[in-house]
Amino acid sequence: MNRLIDTYNRHINYLRISLTDRCNLRCIYCMPKEGISLIGHDDILSFEEILRIARIAATKGISKIRVTGGEPLVRKGVVGLIAELNALPGIDDLSITTNGILLQSSAAALRKAGLKRINISLDSLDPEKYKKITRGGNLNAVLDGIREARIQGFAPIKINVVTIRGVNDDEIIPFAELTLDRPVHIRFIEFMPVDIKSGWKKTHFISNEEIQNRIRTIGELMQVSSNRRSGPAQMYQLKGAQGKLGFISPLSNHFCESCNRLRLTADGKLRTCLFSDNEFALKTMLRAGCTDAELDERITTAILSKPMKHKILEPSHKKCLRGMSAIGG
Ligand code: SAM
Ligand code: SF4
Repeated sequence: MNRLIDTYNRHINYLRISLTDRCNLRCIYCMPKEGISLIGHDDILSFEEILRIARIAATKGISKIRVTGGEPLVRKGVVGLIAELNALPGIDDLSITTNGILLQSSAAALRKAGLKRINISLDSLDPEKYKKITRGGNLNAVLDGIREARIQGFAPIKINVVTIRGVNDDEIIPFAELTLDRPVHIRFIEFMPVDIKSGWKKTHFISNEEIQNRIRTIGELMQVSSNRRSGPAQMYQLKGAQGKLGFISPLSNHFCESCNRLRLTADGKLRTCLFSDNEFALKTMLRAGCTDAELDERITTAILSKPMKHKILEPSHKKCLRGMSAIGG
């Protein structure tokens, strides 16, 4: 097995695959209310193309895949794709990030297909506020999806909360309290200024340090060891709690020095940094009839161009051309 080492000596072993830029929600921080201009059906990678890229990546040392979107569960045939990705030699960690709206009806099939880990994005526990943040989403559908995922044996269930000052920071404590009597992981993610349309303003930003300080008002917050599956999250636990708290701080404490990720967009471009529009077109090559060796070489070239760190907080940084829903988070 090869090991993919980039120019800065990082071991690249994680591929995030965006299945679609379409979504059944319009979260205020991710998509404009009218949606985004969608990639045409013919320009979206087919499942065969995705599997071919994933297979080559796996032979090069990618062992971890996350399926994302847009909303991955809106793409027809996703369960079959999960089963095929799960069967790829070399892939030992397959997961999905979803908004959970369609999870109740698909959790059992996903589990049968071999999926073991699910992250669910949920930014409010209040039905009205959830509806506002997602522009129309039904909180009960997500809660039913989470319940079904637990019944099907997905563990631990990880809930991602993008925290935005003045929008949902009043729910930091209720979210943290969920871990007291449930084996759930609540992961607070700093709101990132990805593209111009995300509406990011400095005043919206709330650092994970401030979030931790607020949580300390309800109990002792102990740091616990992170494992390979925690990714960039710093893991903590409230004393006596069943669940855990994760803090993902791309802005206040960027983790670029240990970044192990590549991202494949739904239209077949390989991105080496979430915040960089420097992309490597793979779909064009595939459709021009490239060989596996050529594809392999292109992936290596992309990895060797992976930047040392993001510069999103520097004044010279230009926001990305793609929004988060088109990159996959
Ligand atoms: N639709 C799925 C979902 O919401 O889980 C998967 C795609 S979504 C783009 C992936 C993750 O990115 C979600 O957890 C979402 O909350 C997060 N996200 C989107 N825009 C963000 C932003 N500007 N800052 C931080 N996280 C963001
Ligand atoms: Fe859709 Fe996920 Fe973006 Fe919300 S965060 S609009 S659910 S892609």
